[in-house]
Amino acid sequence: MSHGISIGIVGAGLGGMTAAVALQQRGFRNVTVFEQAPLLGEIGAGITVGPNITKILNGLGLDAAVESFASGTTTFGTNHYQTGERILFTERSLEEALKKQGALTRHLHRADLHKVLENAFNKEGDSLRLDHALEHIEQNDDGVTLRFANGATERCDVVIACDGLKSVVRDTLFDTQPPTFTGFLTWRGLVDADDVQGLDVVPHFAGYPSEGRMFARYPLRHGRQINWVANAYRPQATGEESWNDWTDVSEVLAHLGDYHSEVQRIINASPDGRCLRWALHSRQPLDSWTAGRVVLLGDAAHPMTPFYGMGAGMAFEDAAVLARCFEADNGDWQSAFARYEKARVARANKFHVKSLERGKTYMSADPADRAKQPSAGMAKEFVYNAMTVEI
Ligand SMILES: Cc1cc2nc3c(=O)[nH]c(=O)nc-3n(C[C@H](O)[C@H](O)[C@H](O)COP(=O)(O)OP(=O)(O)OC[C@H]3O[C@@H](n4cnc5c(N)ncnc54)[C@H](O)[C@@H]3O)c2cc1C
Repeated sequence: MSHGISIGIVGAGLGGMTAAVALQQRGFRNVTVFEQAPLLGEIGAGITVGPNITKILNGLGLDAAVESFASGTTTFGTNHYQTGERILFTERSLEEALKKQGALTRHLHRADLHKVLENAFNKEGDSLRLDHALEHIEQNDDGVTLRFANGATERCDVVIACDGLKSVVRDTLFDTQPPTFTGFLTWRGLVDADDVQGLDVVPHFAGYPSEGRMFARYPLRHGRQINWVANAYRPQATGEESWNDWTDVSEVLAHLGDYHSEVQRIINASPDGRCLRWALHSRQPLDSWTAGRVVLLGDAAHPMTPFYGMGAGMAFEDAAVLARCFEADNGDWQSAFARYEKARVARANKFHVKSLERGKTYMSADPADRAKQPSAGMAKEFVYNAMTVEI
């Protein structure tokens, strides 16, 4: 069935593109995505695609495309930050993962995941508009007007705001407080496997927590690259709420100088000695994501710290559920928005709070805390299937 309602999506990130694909697949043909960047593409870093995301990708028919970039991850572990010795090691076959969680966990390059979504989106009819940075949004009883930095003005029946961490839509239409610095600094890098030859990549995902610090690495693209992430709790630091500032590896090593030589080898192999720096900020969770004809999705609705690995997961889940709500209500946006909020706000806000707590436990001063299974408590969360959950 084809639905006539015109839907504007602001932001072609992971949430926006998933919503766009899911809506098109449900017969919504009048979907236009507005993205500020002049070119689509993603930042050079990896992402954990948990079973909750995989179920959505499978449901959208994208399993083969995703599998071409990454197989399922079967080994996970925690190593001692100085000696590199194994503290925890979990091995789970693909069959076991499918049986327990209904889908696989994979580790992907964000650009590859984004490309899969972009390829699945039907871009006919000017439905993807790049170089459209939203500056102003207003609405009346008939629709929503979007004004962009390039001078363009667009009118839609409804708008889904997927404009991420620094959402213009959220700041314009919702009662928000300024972001506060969580005290955590994060650095990320991507290294060619050839530049760290002989690296032991079992377990596939390896974490190295210490008091107030953490390092993790996992291979990408069938082992051709190694993605790494480091965290340090530095409440006295200041920084922009951004994740794409470049810095030198010396800054990371100043915080992780006593880490195992294998960790230092990976960090040092970062191309041009550079990596991405991110000062983690947090905002108050919102009780409602709807303002008239406009609804928030993903980081725009619930920008969370990455310690539960659920930021993208929540954006994918929001997108899948919202598309299903539009379909269930046959394009009646008021009912669809109400149904969406009912299905999503509590779950997303739970992770908003839990992710910061988890970071503190994972980097606790108590070694017993650090030795806890990083995925403890996650099993029941991964059973959630946004493609079938009651809405
Ligand atoms: C390096 C990195 C690694 C991560 N790893 C994980 C992980 O392992 N697991 C996990 O679950 N989560 C992870 N996260 C978090 C996750 O990526 C985010 O939660 C997720 O991308 C949110 O999706 P989104 O669509 O809401 O926002 P984004 O993907 O950030 O997309 C927002 C889009 O909106 C566009 N935009 C912004 N403002 C405007 C505007 N004014 N006008 C038009 N367009 C605009 C942006 O250019 C962007 O394309 C990671 C984040 C980063 C940065």
